[in-house]
Amino acid sequence: MAEALNFDGTTEDLDVFECPHCHETIDTSAEVCRFCGAKIDHEAAKKAAHLLAQVDQACSDASYLRSTAAIALLLCVGTAFGLLRGGSRSPRVILLVGIQNILLGLCALFIVCSLPFPFWSMRWWAKYAHLPSDDEDFQSARAAVRSTGYAAVVALTASGVIVCLVFIYRITHG
Ligand SMILES: [Zn+2]
Repeated sequence: MAEALNFDGTTEDLDVFECPHCHETIDTSAEVCRFCGAKIDHEAAKKAAHLLAQVDQACSDASYLRSTAAIALLLCVGTAFGLLRGGSRSPRVILLVGIQNILLGLCALFIVCSLPFPFWSMRWWAKYAHLPSDDEDFQSARAAVRSTGYAAVVALTASGVIVCLVFIYRITHG
């Protein structure tokens, strides 16, 4: 399955489908399969071609979601790691800014970075999850979208809890 983003190829994709007999990719306008010679049912071919195009789109959307999530994760982990390193080198700066403030800043970054993904995953799910395809790429795209959504919800919840704890600490300790 093509991983590349497909901006204009969608209608073009509608013209090909998988031969139900030999599973080669063939043209819907053909009378017989050029690989196995099976006669082609044009209605079924059109439906199959439409499904194939949707599955293709689902895979490319999922791969876009996945790379964006990887960038967001890298940004969060990188920032946390950078702060940790900076803090161990110059603890005075950390004390000056305040550990609580740094924690709040980090949580804010985590929240901003994970916020789009539950919605993005749900939108993908509503659009594509029902497609009746056992294509391997599609199944792994589905799993990736689901785990990205869950991971983002966990990150959001954890960050929210830490923010609440910091504020509770501030209130109870003046
Ligand atoms: Zn065939």
